[in-house]
Amino acid sequence: MLPQTPTPYDGLHVRHADVFPKICVRCSRQFDDIRSFIAGTTPVFRSSGLMEHKDPAIGTVVILIRNCTCGTSLALHCKDRRDRSNKGIARRERFAALLALLTESGLSPETARAETVRVMNETEES
Ligand SMILES: [Zn+2]
Repeated sequence: MLPQTPTPYDGLHVRHADVFPKICVRCSRQFDDIRSFIAGTTPVFRSSGLMEHKDPAIGTVVILIRNCTCGTSLALHCKDRRDRSNKGIARRERFAALLALLTESGLSPETARAETVRVMNETEES
């Protein structure tokens, strides 16, 4: 019987695929992906083990903490699942920051705005 992935973890993905295989530092147990990690570990404090961490440099990080069967707590850095809905906000913030930067560096407000739009559109396409 295959263990079912509990629903709090639906749609959860690690930030970097190269964290797998994740190996427990204590018992050397190996987890090949997020599913096997969740299936092969137990909850911490009877919670989902999901924690949100706001990092000024990279934004919101979701950290998943689970206990290995040997009792060691293992943490996985996951993507913020709200990335999609936050995209518009992030884009507006980037726009404002870029606009301020160009204005500060001496461009007229009109030119700065036009340049910001151009740069943002290029970023969007790539
Ligand atoms: Zn272990």
